[in-house]
Amino acid sequence: MGLEIIVGIKWVPNTTSVNIDPKTGTLIREGIPSVVNPHDLTAVEMALRLKDRYGGRVTAISMAPPSAIAGLEHVIGMGVDRGILASDRVFAGADTLATSYVLAKVIEKIGDYDLIIMGHETIDSSTAHIGAQVASWLKLPYIYYAKEIDYNEKEKSIMVKRILENAFEIYKIKLPAVVSIAMHTYEPRRIKISNKLRAKMENLIQVWTSKDLDIDVNCAGLRGSPTVVSAIDFVPKVPRKNEIFNEKDPRKAAKWLIQKLIEEGLLDP
Ligand SMILES: Cc1cc2nc3c(=O)[nH]c(=O)nc-3n(C[C@H](O)[C@H](O)[C@H](O)COP(=O)(O)OP(=O)(O)OC[C@H]3O[C@@H](n4cnc5c(N)ncnc54)[C@H](O)[C@@H]3O)c2cc1C
Repeated sequence: MGLEIIVGIKWVPNTTSVNIDPKTGTLIREGIPSVVNPHDLTAVEMALRLKDRYGGRVTAISMAPPSAIAGLEHVIGMGVDRGILASDRVFAGADTLATSYVLAKVIEKIGDYDLIIMGHETIDSSTAHIGAQVASWLKLPYIYYAKEIDYNEKEKSIMVKRILENAFEIYKIKLPAVVSIAMHTYEPRRIKISNKLRAKMENLIQVWTSKDLDIDVNCAGLRGSPTVVSAIDFVPKVPRKNEIFNEKDPRKAAKWLIQKLIEEGLLDP
């Protein structure tokens, strides 16, 4: 009864200005503290709200180095029931295709699922590929940029409200399905220390290596990654000036702003 929900969470460097190794074209993550990708906390919140309404279980999955256990503990602190980390050297250097392949294999092994929820995108790579690719590997329907989900237990279907630029689309889809949640849709709930402690005390996190999964190692990690970073150009950073004009009258404020933009050469006089 209820919904078996799987949420993908990524353990990302706590910054949007990750450096890139100019030789290999891969991200340099060493020495930067990590967090759960903020948009994934929105996805976790959506999953927990669905569990609150309809019952069931929420499983968080991640493909990452072992340090990402801290991320799974964090979402268990929010109320997620268990975490599964896919971690193995052969998964390293993966592009989005190889990442989504391993995540799809993890989901296949979990087996019993109704709904897979992903975040909008990550703050370190921001491709927004993974949701669509996981759906494609698993041959499931996929809805992107969802704001609301309602579940019909009798029909085993969901109604998904999806945000467009100036409209909403409403879809009805049969489960199982993959849905990515629009960013900033929900404020993630706070963690409860007692929940977080349960993660360790009750062994709620499992680590799966390539040996635990029915995996073709040629499709994982660097070997399974057809994307090649052929060149990198760095964009020079322009320092900000941070000028504040305290004017309550909007006309005077607009005039001041226009004058400033003309002085900076950003607007023709
Ligand atoms: C050529 C190439 C080489 C790369 N090499 C490396 C490397 O050496 N090391 C490295 O760390 N990265 C590497 N990357 C980046 C790596 O491919 C991405 O981090 C990964 O595929 C996820 O893509 P994304 O961050 O754009 O996720 P998006 O598609 O933007 O994420 C959408 C959603 O999918 C889910 N999701 C994304 N990633 C994960 C995950 N890992 N686990 C669970 N859920 C997830 C989340 O819910 C997220 O909100 C490389 C990329 C390329 C193109």
